[in-house]
Amino acid sequence: MTQQSIGAYLRHGQTPFFRLPAVMDEGTRPTAYANADVVLLGVPFDGGTTYQPGARFGPYHVRRVSALVQPYHATHRIDVFAALRVIDGGNLPVPPFSLAAMRELVQAEVGAIVDAGAAPFLVGGDHSLTLPSLRALAAKHGPLAIVHIDAHFDTSSPELWGEAFHHGTPLRNAIEEGLVVRDGLFQIGIRGPWKADDDAACSTRSGARIVTSDDLEAHGTATVANEIRDRFATLPVYVTLDIDAVDPAFAPGTGTPVPGGLSSRELLRLLRGLAGLRIVGMDLVEIAPALDHADITCLLGAYALFEGLALRACAPR
Ligand code: MN
Ligand code: MN
Repeated sequence: MTQQSIGAYLRHGQTPFFRLPAVMDEGTRPTAYANADVVLLGVPFDGGTTYQPGARFGPYHVRRVSALVQPYHATHRIDVFAALRVIDGGNLPVPPFSLAAMRELVQAEVGAIVDAGAAPFLVGGDHSLTLPSLRALAAKHGPLAIVHIDAHFDTSSPELWGEAFHHGTPLRNAIEEGLVVRDGLFQIGIRGPWKADDDAACSTRSGARIVTSDDLEAHGTATVANEIRDRFATLPVYVTLDIDAVDPAFAPGTGTPVPGGLSSRELLRLLRGLAGLRIVGMDLVEIAPALDHADITCLLGAYALFEGLALRACAPR
Protein backbone atom coordinates (compact mmCIF):
# COMPACT_ATOMS: atom_id res chain seq x y z
CA MET A 1 0.00 0.00 0.00
CA THR A 2 1.11 3.50 -0.71
CA GLN A 3 2.62 5.58 2.01
CA GLN A 4 1.11 8.95 2.86
CA SER A 5 3.15 11.76 1.31
CA ILE A 6 5.80 13.54 3.34
CA GLY A 7 3.65 16.67 2.96
CA ALA A 8 0.64 14.98 4.52
CA TYR A 9 2.81 13.68 7.33
CA LEU A 10 4.10 17.17 8.07
CA ARG A 11 0.58 18.57 7.94
CA HIS A 12 -0.78 16.02 10.40
CA GLY A 13 2.24 16.09 12.67
CA GLN A 14 1.62 12.50 13.75
CA THR A 15 1.62 9.47 11.55
CA PRO A 16 0.57 5.82 11.38
CA PHE A 17 3.43 3.29 11.20
CA PHE A 18 5.52 4.05 8.09
CA ARG A 19 2.89 6.64 6.92
CA LEU A 20 0.64 3.73 5.92
CA PRO A 21 -3.15 3.66 5.89
CA ALA A 22 -4.57 3.31 9.39
CA VAL A 23 -7.72 1.67 10.68
CA MET A 24 -9.22 4.22 13.03
CA ASP A 25 -12.74 2.89 13.16
CA GLU A 26 -13.70 -0.30 15.01
CA GLY A 27 -16.42 -1.06 12.45
CA THR A 28 -14.09 -1.09 9.43
CA ARG A 29 -11.53 -3.37 11.10
CA PRO A 30 -12.67 -6.74 9.67
CA THR A 31 -12.78 -5.43 6.08
CA ALA A 32 -9.45 -3.67 6.50
CA TYR A 33 -7.80 -6.83 7.85
CA ALA A 34 -9.25 -8.91 5.02
CA ASN A 35 -7.72 -6.53 2.46
CA ALA A 36 -4.28 -6.50 4.09
CA ASP A 37 -1.23 -8.78 3.86
CA VAL A 38 0.20 -7.47 7.12
CA VAL A 39 -1.40 -5.66 10.04
CA LEU A 40 0.86 -3.63 12.32
CA LEU A 41 -0.59 -3.55 15.81
CA GLY A 42 0.62 -1.56 18.82
CA VAL A 43 0.33 -3.18 22.24
CA PRO A 44 1.00 -0.38 24.78
CA PHE A 45 1.43 -2.67 27.78
CA ASP A 46 4.32 -3.08 30.24
CA GLY A 47 2.60 -4.75 33.17
CA GLY A 48 4.90 -7.75 32.73
CA THR A 49 8.09 -5.78 33.34
CA THR A 50 10.41 -6.92 36.14
CA TYR A 51 12.73 -3.89 36.25
CA GLN A 52 12.38 -0.47 34.62
CA PRO A 53 8.91 0.06 33.08
CA GLY A 54 8.10 2.32 30.12
CA ALA A 55 7.70 -0.05 27.17
CA ARG A 56 3.98 0.82 27.06
CA PHE A 57 5.00 3.95 25.16
CA GLY A 58 6.94 1.98 22.55
CA PRO A 59 4.20 1.94 19.88
CA TYR A 60 3.72 5.74 19.98
CA HIS A 61 7.39 6.54 19.50
CA VAL A 62 8.23 3.81 17.01
CA ARG A 63 5.29 5.14 14.96
CA ARG A 64 6.63 8.68 15.17
CA VAL A 65 10.14 7.83 13.98
CA SER A 66 8.95 5.28 11.40
CA ALA A 67 7.75 8.24 9.30
CA LEU A 68 11.34 8.54 8.06
CA VAL A 69 11.56 5.03 6.63
CA GLN A 70 11.42 4.84 2.84
CA PRO A 71 9.70 1.92 1.07
CA TYR A 72 12.44 0.59 -1.23
CA HIS A 73 14.69 -2.13 0.22
CA ALA A 74 18.12 -1.57 -1.27
CA THR A 75 19.43 -5.12 -0.63
CA HIS A 76 16.39 -7.19 -1.55
CA ARG A 77 15.60 -4.82 -4.44
CA ILE A 78 11.94 -4.63 -3.62
CA ASP A 79 9.46 -1.85 -2.86
CA VAL A 80 8.11 -3.33 0.34
CA PHE A 81 4.90 -1.31 0.46
CA ALA A 82 4.16 -1.93 -3.22
CA ALA A 83 4.73 -5.68 -2.84
CA LEU A 84 2.79 -5.93 0.39
CA ARG A 85 -0.47 -4.39 1.54
CA VAL A 86 0.46 -3.20 5.03
CA ILE A 87 -1.87 -1.29 7.32
CA ASP A 88 -1.60 0.21 10.78
CA GLY A 89 -4.28 -1.46 12.92
CA GLY A 90 -3.75 1.10 15.67
CA ASN A 91 -3.13 0.22 19.30
CA LEU A 92 -4.88 -2.50 21.21
CA PRO A 93 -6.65 -0.81 24.16
CA VAL A 94 -5.15 -2.99 26.90
CA PRO A 95 -5.83 -2.20 30.57
CA PRO A 96 -2.44 -1.48 32.18
CA PHE A 97 -3.23 -3.52 35.32
CA SER A 98 -4.02 -6.98 34.04
CA LEU A 99 -1.67 -9.48 32.44
CA ALA A 100 -4.60 -11.86 31.90
CA ALA A 101 -6.72 -9.22 30.13
CA MET A 102 -3.76 -8.27 27.92
CA ARG A 103 -3.27 -11.93 26.93
CA GLU A 104 -6.95 -12.35 26.06
CA LEU A 105 -7.05 -9.16 23.96
CA VAL A 106 -3.80 -9.95 22.11
CA GLN A 107 -4.80 -13.54 21.37
CA ALA A 108 -8.23 -12.46 20.10
CA GLU A 109 -6.88 -9.65 17.91
CA VAL A 110 -4.01 -11.71 16.47
CA GLY A 111 -6.58 -14.45 15.87
CA ALA A 112 -8.78 -11.97 13.96
CA ILE A 113 -5.80 -10.84 11.86
CA VAL A 114 -4.79 -14.41 11.07
CA ASP A 115 -8.38 -15.46 10.29
CA ALA A 116 -8.60 -12.56 7.83
CA GLY A 117 -5.57 -14.00 6.03
CA ALA A 118 -3.07 -11.33 7.13
CA ALA A 119 0.14 -11.60 9.14
CA PRO A 120 0.39 -9.84 12.52
CA PHE A 121 3.37 -7.60 13.25
CA LEU A 122 3.13 -6.43 16.86
CA VAL A 123 4.92 -3.50 18.46
CA GLY A 124 5.14 -3.66 22.24
CA GLY A 125 5.03 -3.29 24.94
CA ASP A 126 6.98 -5.81 26.97
CA HIS A 127 7.81 -9.39 26.04
CA SER A 128 4.79 -10.90 27.84
CA LEU A 129 2.67 -10.15 24.73
CA THR A 130 4.54 -12.80 22.71
CA LEU A 131 2.84 -15.80 24.33
CA PRO A 132 -0.75 -14.89 23.33
CA SER A 133 0.49 -13.95 19.87
CA LEU A 134 2.11 -17.39 19.50
CA ARG A 135 -1.02 -19.08 20.83
CA ALA A 136 -3.16 -17.47 18.11
CA LEU A 137 -0.63 -18.20 15.35
CA ALA A 138 -0.01 -21.80 16.38
CA ALA A 139 -3.78 -22.37 16.39
CA LYS A 140 -3.69 -21.50 12.69
CA HIS A 141 -0.31 -22.85 11.50
CA GLY A 142 0.50 -25.53 14.06
CA PRO A 143 3.75 -25.42 16.08
CA LEU A 144 6.09 -22.70 14.86
CA ALA A 145 9.79 -22.18 14.33
CA ILE A 146 10.87 -19.18 16.37
CA VAL A 147 13.75 -16.80 15.79
CA HIS A 148 14.17 -15.26 19.23
CA ILE A 149 16.59 -12.33 19.35
CA ASP A 150 17.19 -11.29 22.96
CA ALA A 151 19.83 -10.85 25.67
CA HIS A 152 17.75 -13.21 27.83
CA PHE A 153 16.42 -16.77 27.44
CA ASP A 154 12.95 -15.69 28.68
CA THR A 155 12.45 -19.19 30.03
CA SER A 156 12.12 -18.22 33.72
CA SER A 157 9.81 -20.27 35.88
CA PRO A 158 7.02 -18.81 38.09
CA GLU A 159 9.15 -19.38 41.20
CA LEU A 160 11.10 -16.15 40.94
CA TRP A 161 8.18 -13.68 41.15
CA GLY A 162 5.20 -15.95 41.80
CA GLU A 163 3.94 -15.05 38.32
CA ALA A 164 4.03 -17.41 35.35
CA PHE A 165 3.41 -14.87 32.61
CA HIS A 166 5.78 -11.91 33.06
CA HIS A 167 8.19 -10.70 30.37
CA GLY A 168 10.87 -13.21 31.38
CA THR A 169 8.73 -16.30 30.77
CA PRO A 170 7.14 -16.31 27.27
CA LEU A 171 9.49 -18.88 25.72
CA ARG A 172 9.16 -21.34 28.62
CA ASN A 173 5.37 -21.18 28.33
CA ALA A 174 5.47 -21.47 24.55
CA ILE A 175 7.67 -24.57 24.77
CA GLU A 176 5.55 -26.16 27.50
CA GLU A 177 2.32 -25.43 25.60
CA GLY A 178 3.68 -27.08 22.46
CA LEU A 179 3.60 -23.87 20.40
CA VAL A 180 7.21 -24.38 19.28
CA VAL A 181 8.10 -27.15 16.87
CA ARG A 182 10.72 -29.63 18.21
CA ASP A 183 14.25 -28.17 17.66
CA GLY A 184 12.45 -25.05 16.41
CA LEU A 185 13.77 -22.42 18.78
CA PHE A 186 16.76 -20.35 17.64
CA GLN A 187 17.98 -17.86 20.26
CA ILE A 188 20.44 -15.13 19.30
CA GLY A 189 22.15 -12.47 21.40
CA ILE A 190 21.93 -14.40 24.69
CA ARG A 191 24.56 -13.41 27.26
CA GLY A 192 25.32 -13.59 30.95
CA PRO A 193 25.56 -13.16 33.79
CA TRP A 194 22.93 -15.80 34.61
CA LYS A 195 21.17 -16.76 37.82
CA ALA A 196 22.74 -20.25 37.83
CA ASP A 197 24.55 -22.70 35.58
CA ASP A 198 21.30 -24.32 34.43
CA ASP A 199 19.68 -21.17 32.99
CA ALA A 200 19.93 -22.66 29.50
CA ALA A 201 18.33 -25.97 30.54
CA CYS A 202 14.76 -25.23 29.42
CA SER A 203 16.00 -24.12 25.98
CA THR A 204 18.43 -26.98 25.46
CA ARG A 205 15.86 -29.60 26.55
CA SER A 206 13.61 -28.31 23.75
CA GLY A 207 16.43 -28.73 21.22
CA ALA A 208 17.02 -25.00 20.91
CA ARG A 209 20.06 -23.61 19.15
CA ILE A 210 21.67 -20.88 21.25
CA VAL A 211 23.95 -18.30 19.65
CA THR A 212 25.40 -15.89 22.20
CA SER A 213 26.36 -12.39 21.12
CA ASP A 214 30.02 -13.54 21.29
CA ASP A 215 29.18 -16.53 19.03
CA LEU A 216 27.49 -14.19 16.58
CA GLU A 217 30.59 -12.05 16.33
CA ALA A 218 32.86 -15.09 16.05
CA HIS A 219 30.85 -16.83 13.29
CA GLY A 220 29.51 -13.73 11.56
CA THR A 221 25.91 -12.78 10.86
CA ALA A 222 25.87 -14.38 7.39
CA THR A 223 26.84 -17.83 8.73
CA VAL A 224 24.24 -17.66 11.49
CA ALA A 225 21.53 -16.40 9.12
CA ASN A 226 22.33 -19.26 6.71
CA GLU A 227 22.05 -21.77 9.53
CA ILE A 228 18.61 -20.40 10.45
CA ARG A 229 17.48 -20.52 6.81
CA ASP A 230 18.62 -24.14 6.48
CA ARG A 231 17.03 -25.21 9.73
CA PHE A 232 13.67 -23.49 9.17
CA ALA A 233 13.44 -23.74 5.36
CA THR A 234 10.08 -25.50 5.29
CA LEU A 235 8.51 -24.19 8.50
CA PRO A 236 6.25 -21.27 9.43
CA VAL A 237 8.58 -18.83 11.18
CA TYR A 238 7.84 -16.25 13.87
CA VAL A 239 10.42 -13.57 14.67
CA THR A 240 10.37 -12.17 18.20
CA LEU A 241 12.79 -9.29 18.64
CA ASP A 242 13.54 -8.04 22.14
CA ILE A 243 15.50 -4.85 21.54
CA ASP A 244 17.73 -5.59 24.56
CA ALA A 245 19.54 -8.14 22.35
CA VAL A 246 21.29 -5.06 21.03
CA ASP A 247 24.08 -3.50 23.07
CA PRO A 248 22.98 -0.63 25.36
CA ALA A 249 25.43 1.56 23.43
CA PHE A 250 23.12 1.21 20.40
CA ALA A 251 19.82 0.62 22.19
CA PRO A 252 19.77 2.29 25.62
CA GLY A 253 16.00 2.74 25.61
CA THR A 254 15.01 -0.52 27.23
CA GLY A 255 14.13 -1.70 30.73
CA THR A 256 16.63 -4.52 31.31
CA PRO A 257 19.78 -3.60 29.39
CA VAL A 258 22.77 -5.98 29.32
CA PRO A 259 26.22 -4.84 28.09
CA GLY A 260 28.02 -6.82 25.40
CA GLY A 261 25.23 -7.17 22.85
CA LEU A 262 24.74 -6.96 19.11
CA SER A 263 25.51 -3.82 17.18
CA SER A 264 22.70 -2.18 15.18
CA ARG A 265 24.47 -3.30 12.01
CA GLU A 266 24.63 -6.92 13.19
CA LEU A 267 20.92 -6.93 14.00
CA LEU A 268 19.87 -5.45 10.64
CA ARG A 269 22.22 -7.74 8.68
CA LEU A 270 21.01 -10.79 10.56
CA LEU A 271 17.39 -9.95 9.70
CA ARG A 272 18.31 -9.28 6.04
CA GLY A 273 19.99 -12.68 5.93
CA LEU A 274 16.69 -14.45 6.64
CA ALA A 275 15.15 -13.65 3.25
CA GLY A 276 13.38 -16.66 1.80
CA LEU A 277 11.87 -17.90 5.05
CA ARG A 278 8.10 -18.07 5.42
CA ILE A 279 7.53 -15.38 8.06
CA VAL A 280 4.03 -15.72 9.53
CA GLY A 281 4.39 -13.01 12.16
CA MET A 282 6.76 -10.83 14.12
CA ASP A 283 6.92 -8.78 17.26
CA LEU A 284 9.22 -5.99 18.37
CA VAL A 285 9.24 -5.58 22.13
CA GLU A 286 10.85 -3.85 25.13
CA ILE A 287 11.49 -0.40 23.66
CA ALA A 288 11.08 2.10 26.51
CA PRO A 289 11.20 5.57 24.92
CA ALA A 290 11.61 7.47 28.21
CA LEU A 291 14.96 5.69 28.69
CA ASP A 292 16.04 6.41 25.12
CA HIS A 293 18.43 9.12 23.91
CA ALA A 294 17.90 11.00 20.66
CA ASP A 295 15.46 8.29 19.51
CA ILE A 296 18.30 5.87 18.68
CA THR A 297 16.52 2.84 20.12
CA CYS A 298 13.16 3.80 18.58
CA LEU A 299 14.82 4.37 15.20
CA LEU A 300 16.55 1.02 15.32
CA GLY A 301 13.23 -0.57 16.23
CA ALA A 302 11.48 1.06 13.26
CA TYR A 303 14.21 -0.03 10.85
CA ALA A 304 14.26 -3.57 12.26
CA LEU A 305 10.49 -3.70 11.83
CA PHE A 306 10.96 -2.62 8.22
CA GLU A 307 13.47 -5.48 7.76
CA GLY A 308 10.82 -7.87 9.08
CA LEU A 309 8.24 -6.50 6.64
CA ALA A 310 10.77 -6.86 3.83
CA LEU A 311 11.23 -10.54 4.77
CA ARG A 312 7.49 -11.02 4.51
CA ALA A 313 7.55 -9.23 1.12
CA CYS A 314 10.28 -11.64 -0.09
CA ALA A 315 8.67 -14.72 1.46
CA PRO A 316 7.05 -17.60 -0.36
CA ARG A 317 3.31 -17.51 0.44
MN1 MN B 1 15.54 -9.31 27.10
MN1 MN C 1 12.74 -10.78 26.25
